[in-house]
This record gives sequence, C-alpha cells and structure tokens, in this order.
Amino acid sequence: MTDTDVERLPGMAAQQGVVWLRVALDVPLPGPFDYRHAAPLAPGMRVIVPFGRRRLVGIVTDVPAAPSIDPVHIKPIDRVLDDLPPFTPDWLRLARFAAAYYHRPLGEVMLPALPPPLRKPSAYEGQRSGAGPVARLDAKHAKAQAKTATPPDAAATVADDTDLAPVEPVLNAEQEIAVAAIRALRGFKPVLLHGVTGSGKTEVYLRAARDVLAQGRQVLLMVPEINLTPQLEAVLRGRLDAVAGPGSLAVLHSGLSDGERLRAWVRAQRGEARVLLGTRMSIFAPLPELGLIVVDEEHDASYKQQDGLRYSARDLAIWRARDRDIPVLLGSATPSLETWQQAERGRYLRLTLSARAKASQPPAVRLVDTRRLAMKQGMSPQLIEAIGKRLERGEQSLVFLNRRGYAPVLHCASCAWVSQCPRCTAFTVLHRGPGPGGHILQCHHCGYQARVPRACPECGDQDLQPMGRGTQRVEEHLSQLFPQARILRIDADSTRRKGSAQSLFASVHAGEVDILVGTQMVAKGHDFARLGLVGVLNADAMLFAHDFRAPERLFAQLMQVAGRAGRHAEGGEVLVQTGYPEQPIYQALLRHDYAGFAGPALAERESTGLPPFAHQALLTAEARELAQALEFLQTARDLPDGEMAGSFPTADAVTRYDPVPLRVVRVANMERAQLLVESTSRPALQAFLSAWSAMLHELPAASRVRWQLEVDPLEI
Ligand code: ADP
Ligand code: ZN
Ligand code: ZN
Repeated sequence: MTDTDVERLPGMAAQQGVVWLRVALDVPLPGPFDYRHAAPLAPGMRVIVPFGRRRLVGIVTDVPAAPSIDPVHIKPIDRVLDDLPPFTPDWLRLARFAAAYYHRPLGEVMLPALPPPLRKPSAYEGQRSGAGPVARLDAKHAKAQAKTATPPDAAATVADDTDLAPVEPVLNAEQEIAVAAIRALRGFKPVLLHGVTGSGKTEVYLRAARDVLAQGRQVLLMVPEINLTPQLEAVLRGRLDAVAGPGSLAVLHSGLSDGERLRAWVRAQRGEARVLLGTRMSIFAPLPELGLIVVDEEHDASYKQQDGLRYSARDLAIWRARDRDIPVLLGSATPSLETWQQAERGRYLRLTLSARAKASQPPAVRLVDTRRLAMKQGMSPQLIEAIGKRLERGEQSLVFLNRRGYAPVLHCASCAWVSQCPRCTAFTVLHRGPGPGGHILQCHHCGYQARVPRACPECGDQDLQPMGRGTQRVEEHLSQLFPQARILRIDADSTRRKGSAQSLFASVHAGEVDILVGTQMVAKGHDFARLGLVGVLNADAMLFAHDFRAPERLFAQLMQVAGRAGRHAEGGEVLVQTGYPEQPIYQALLRHDYAGFAGPALAERESTGLPPFAHQALLTAEARELAQALEFLQTARDLPDGEMAGSFPTADAVTRYDPVPLRVVRVANMERAQLLVESTSRPALQAFLSAWSAMLHELPAASRVRWQLEVDPLEI
C-alpha cells in the first residue's frame, strides 16, 4: 500500500450525501463506532463526534459501504479536524496490529498515542475551522522565525560535554564491516549490533542514519531514557544536520510540555523532522517516509510500557520495520535473551563490535568476596582504598547501589518492630527528609509518608535503628570517609525536579564531582570521560530474586555499570562486592563474556520451558479483598472448560496456571493476584487470548475487580 491509497475512498458510493464512517474512540468499549457525514473523508482523519453526553476526538478508521447498525441510531460527526494530513495507512496498520496483539480496543491504542492537544475537543471548541492547536503552533513558529534567523530549537544545543561531536572518527575495522553490512541490506531485516559498552555503536547508528537520510527517508532512533537524550541530541545535531539540513531533528519523550510534544509530532508527520530521537512513545509517531529504525539498548526494560496499553516498543519496532520493509537496528552490549536467540538461529543478522573504540583494554573486573571481610557501612576496605587512590590521581569514582533512600527499613533493637506501610504489604523506607537532619518514612509502592516515631510504637524503646543502606546513607558515609571529596548522588530522589538530572550529569561531565553515588540511573549510556573506578554494592540482592528474568537483568546491569569505568583511558577498574563470587553470572562478568552468560542461560530457559521458548500472557486482578480477585481469575481460568469451550480451539496448546496472589499482595489497600497463561506457539496463544479477552469483559465477577491482560509480560 502506498500513501496515495488514502485518496481512494471506498465509501464514495454515497452520492446521496451520506457517508458512513467507522471511528476509533478512546473509551473502554470494544467499538468501532459508526457515524455519518455529508462528504467523503479519508481514513486517518481526526474528527470530533458526539458520544453520550460528551464530545470526543476520534480517528476515522474505515469508510464502509454500509453501516454496522441500524442507520437511525447513527449520529453525524460534529466536525472534521483538517489541521493535519490524515494518518497514513502504515500508521493505521501499526495501531491495528498493536490493538490486536495486545488485545485492546483500537481507540485505546490510537488516541493516547497522540500529543494531548490533538485529542482534546476543548482545544478546538469555539474555534473557527482552520484554528486550533496546530494553527497556533504554526503561528507561534512563524513569529519566532521572523524575529530570529535561526529556528528556536536549532539554537538550543543542550549538552556541550561530549567529544563525539562534529569531528568524525575514522571507523575501525569492525565498525567498517558493520556499516557496510547495513548499507548492503535491502528491505526488512532485523540487525543485532552486539557491541561492548564504549565500542562505538553510536558511530554505526550515525553512519547508517546518514545513508538513509541521503536517500530522502526518515530515521527513528529510540533510546530507553529521557536522561540519555541531551548527549545524543547534541551529537545528532552536530553530525546529521549537514546531511538532512539544520533543524531536521525532533525529540519526543514524556518530559516535554504538551506544546513541545505537539511540535515534534507535527514536524514528524509533515516530514519536516528527518530524524526523530525519542523514548518508547516515539514508536507511535507518524513518519510517512520512515527508512530506518534504531533501538539503542534494545534489552532495556524501559521499552515496555507498564500501564494502559502494555506494549513493547522494541517488539513494535520490529513489526513496523517488517511492515515498512526496512531494516531495524537493535544495539546492545547485553541483548535480551529473546534477541540473542533470534541471532543464534540466524533470523537476525548479528554484527559484533568486540573492542572498545578508545581505551584498548576493557576495565579490569575484580570480585571482592565480602564473606571474610570487615565491612564499613557496606563498603569493603578494598573499595575504600581504591576510591582513595582515584581521588589522589584526580579521577572520578562511581559507587553503584540500586536502592534509593537512606535505609530500606527502620527497626527496633529491643523488639521485632519494623517500619511498615499501613496500606501495603511492604516496609517503609527511611529517607533523609527535606528539612535539615530530619528523616521520614516512605512507601515505595504507594507513596505513603510518615514521620519517624521517637520511640518504638510496640515497646516504647527509643533505640530505633536503620537497617541496611540506600544511596543516601552511602553518600553520608563517603563524606565522612573522604571529607575533602566532592560527592554527588544521582537517583530518583535527587533528580525529581524537571531538568535536574541533566544539570547533575553535566556537573559530572564538567569534572565538578569526585565521587558519584547512584542507582541504575547512572549506569546507562553516559560517557564519563574521567571515570576510572566503579564499585558495586549489594549486587547479590538481585541474584536470588523470584523473577526468572532477574539474572538476565542483573548481568545486563553489571555489564552496563562496569562499562562506565575507564572509557577514555587505560586502567579502568570495577570492584563488585559479593558473597557469592563463584556464581556463573559473576564469572562471566569477570571475562566480559556475554555469550558465556547467554548460552547457559538460554539452555536453562529451554529446559524449563520459559521464554523465549514459550510465550506468555498475564491476567492480573485487584480488589479490596483478595478472595474477589482470586475468584475472578479462577472463573476466567475455567472459562474454556465450560460451555464456551467451542470458542477456544487452541486451548489444548495453552497452559493455564492457577491464580496466585502477588508477592507484594496489597498495594494502596488493594489486594492483587495473577494468572499466567503460556504456550509454545504464539499464534495458538494469540487465538486463545482473542476469544478469552472478549469474554472476560462479560464475566459477572469482572465488575468487582480491576483487571488487565498483559501480553509478553517482563515481570512475573
Ligand atoms: P557505545 O554506544 O558502543 O557504548 P559510543 O558510541 O558511545 O559507544 O563510543 C564510545 C566512545 O568512542 C565515544 O566517545 C566515541 O566518540 C568514540 N568512538 C567511536 N568510534 C570511534 C572510532 N572509530 N575512533 C575513535 N573513537 C571512536
Ligand atoms: Zn520495640
Ligand atoms: Zn504503601
């Protein structure tokens, strides 16, 4: 199908002045919804329609020859929103696929993908035709251009601390091979670019992007985190503007204002943006001339949306690339086992960058066996000494601990009391409060906050002690150990204000920090030139987690954080503190050996029948009483065994497990349970889910619970 197909309108038979329209609306009903209009309309047009007592923005999905219900019930649309061209057929296909695959109404896929101003009727109300948010945006932009010669966002260079910028390095041999292999591709092909951190994957993306831009096509480059965009943004502007023209980059992520988001979207849809850099939401951006998709850090869990439409932007990227018949580049030092398996089977082209682009040696990894050591506040003498040495040499150190707050729990030394959230089955975490010296207790599940009691609520003892440690406590301890050092903590607490993460990272790049303490936020992507040492505290916490993907995540995280050390100079060093140094995962880490980790891990998944050797979906329910949630799930589980069995031809190929309470069963006073379904055949699972999800809505028990169905869940 080409973009001109939108001009051929199937409903044009309606010469009598009535055209039937099928419209997608963001309402929790299966739809589609029928409306009529006096003139033909292209699928992909936005319209405002009456719905009950409300007015809603919808998207025309079909122009059928006949309506699906009695025409007397069909209302006319209120208004056609023609301030943007209709969404192209490929965009509509992507939304249709996502709706079908994740078993959600089409409107709940399409409308939330749009920037808010495009889906709010109020943005158009009282406006004459031709007015509205897009018109206001254009007017504002024209005004700004009249004032200054340069468009406003071309001038706004965000970070200047990168040395990737305009100077183009000479590619090394492996990069050359990778770029040539990508250049030789015709049509759809997933490519795994497997490169250790610092191996110059970005350089390969840039060359591939440049080729595609030179052919007059658009590039979508996805990154997992907003925090990573400024550095990459500056690089992209510096390097790609020369090919695609100044101002040809647009950036899309959830940290933008509605206006900024609208502008990026509109520029992408009109083809003014030639490169779109964005987080997972950008997979739904309209890119009529899309020629290449790049998914950086493809293994990253941030590509999975965790509420509403629980999509995987990585998986949708592959679908979209197949649909557009274009290549898709998946880059990672530690690919997901799903992707690795595809590469092993030869379905994905694997390109390898095995060496670091700058420092020739990878950092030396050492395991510090904590079992025989006198630890100080969770830190080994070795680590403290190593930090001291780096300080003397004027180099930076990173202390990594994936736990924010001061201490995970407060406890009473004389009785068994521990600080607990009254609304959740969880501890409250001790945090340093905003006031001087004051601490507060905070629940990381529901946000509940309480003052620290002066005495134990159970026994009255005043000796309440923090147990364990988080980043705040480590920061405090480091400042006692190294009073002369400049210490900076980066975690979700220290970066809460908009833009603060960017300025904190900038101060690290500028060399204003000696010791950096941080959670996984600091592990990703950043190219800290002066960082020589990485210390990892409490890595074992994830080793024995319940989730079968925990080892995979731990390995990726350790490789990633280790990759921050010694990127620009030799002598980089990583100290991992563990009580289990003999574990295979740590042994593979010592050797920087992803394949050595992935091989056995995949073999184990195969022998236990876990993904990627099986496909899963998770039905989750929550209710005031656990029994209600379990009852709903049990009814759902038994549906295919009852009189509806005929609707489930693939039920035999699908395993339905028993409903179980979640590990943290109560959150914000709601009790939660889940039911896993699984099949070795994706089509069999999909067929099952289609029939099942339609019936779940009808179950009487459904009205007593909040439930959701998640396809390809990442956490179980
Ligand atoms: P990755 O994304 O694989 O972690 P980057 O693309 O960030 O690695 O590259 C790491 C560093 O190496 C960057 O500073 C980059 O400019 C530099 N670099 C990349 N390719 C080359 C090259 N061929 N020669 C010299 N430096 C390079
Ligand atoms: Zn007590
Ligand atoms: Zn809570």
